[in-house]
Amino acid sequence: MSVLVVNSGSSSVKFQLVDPESGESLASGLVEQIGEPEGRIVLEYRGVETEKRREIADHGVGLAVAFEMLADAGVALGSDVTAVGHRVVHGGEIFYQPTLIDDAVLKQISDLSSLAPLHNPPNVLGIEVAREQLPDVPHVAVFDTAFFHTLPAAASTYAIDRDIAKAHGIRRYGFHGTSHEYVSQQVAEFLGRDDLNQIVLHLGNGASASAIASGVPIDTSMGLTPLEGLVMGTRSGDIDPGVVMHLRRSADMDVDAIDQLLNRQSGLKGLAGVNDFRVLGDRIADGDDNAKLAYDVYIHRLRKYIGGYMLDLGRLDVITFTAGVGENAANVRGDALAGLEGFGIKIDQERNTLRSKEARVVSTDSSAVKVMVVPTNEELAIARAAEKLVQNID
Ligand code: AMP
Repeated sequence: MSVLVVNSGSSSVKFQLVDPESGESLASGLVEQIGEPEGRIVLEYRGVETEKRREIADHGVGLAVAFEMLADAGVALGSDVTAVGHRVVHGGEIFYQPTLIDDAVLKQISDLSSLAPLHNPPNVLGIEVAREQLPDVPHVAVFDTAFFHTLPAAASTYAIDRDIAKAHGIRRYGFHGTSHEYVSQQVAEFLGRDDLNQIVLHLGNGASASAIASGVPIDTSMGLTPLEGLVMGTRSGDIDPGVVMHLRRSADMDVDAIDQLLNRQSGLKGLAGVNDFRVLGDRIADGDDNAKLAYDVYIHRLRKYIGGYMLDLGRLDVITFTAGVGENAANVRGDALAGLEGFGIKIDQERNTLRSKEARVVSTDSSAVKVMVVPTNEELAIARAAEKLVQNID
């Protein structure tokens, strides 16, 4: 029994065959360089990696090639797969739990594209191709926004004209919800408590923070779109909206150019020319001032959110780091929480720099607030959500 998880994202398609019970990954793959002459499709199955290179016009074409490769490798999708779980970025105000996909649901997801123009269209293409390939298997959409659906109104409301906001669905939705939910549950399980006040820092190429009280999110850093909040690999995060008007008027940039600038050419990339944290670290070590400033801006913003969420929560029990940067960059964890001993937050240097793939505590035994590193696993969370829904239907 397995669930195929499809994450048809803005610039790549990731897929994984997961055993939802054991959490074992049975096969996984990636389609990248979509729209370029030399697209790349990689499949890893039973320890063997196979690769194809060919022009991939769009996400749907790439996923179709991935299905061919899975069949060639002898993966019996038709007989083995009990559900296909699709990561869908924006559920708008309609979807807030895993949802069985039919034509009407697919149309609604497609109609939400105005809220997530970079994300929902590739999600839709992925769903279309997977449904063609596996027509007899239930397909389930798992939404990135769902976990934050119940954010308190004070946290989810923008202070703009109410009627305009209502007419255009403008509110703070939050993203990376599958990861924030999964990681906060792992923390609760690890510490054996379900009454924890937590801050979760998902620091990957995209980055977001959340404040969670007893399993319920009360604030998060991303908003109408995944552009708000922390400094990210290529996204600016928080910015004065006046910058947009200024660029429109003074730099004669149209809305698409500004969208491209803030989503793809900003953040670490905009400041330092690179969005990979490892390369950024090398540049800082080589004395690159732009890289150092990018790092400082990144940490400064992160600390602002941590401080804000401490007050939001009132009492703080755990701060958890996850995703590529959060799980691996000990310096980011150390710098984000430096000098906070007065707030009961004490990092243990040795624990913090120890490399491990396991969930672990990196604060001292005397730290009132526990600091943890917990690997995220969105694919497993999606697989389990899809499997649960399908079992409830049967
Ligand atoms: P994700 O989006 O979760 O895959 O995270 C991608 C980010 O994690 C990139 O910026 C990577 O540079 C960063 N990352 C991955 N491994 C490491 C590492 N060992 N040290 C620092 N950053 C890392």
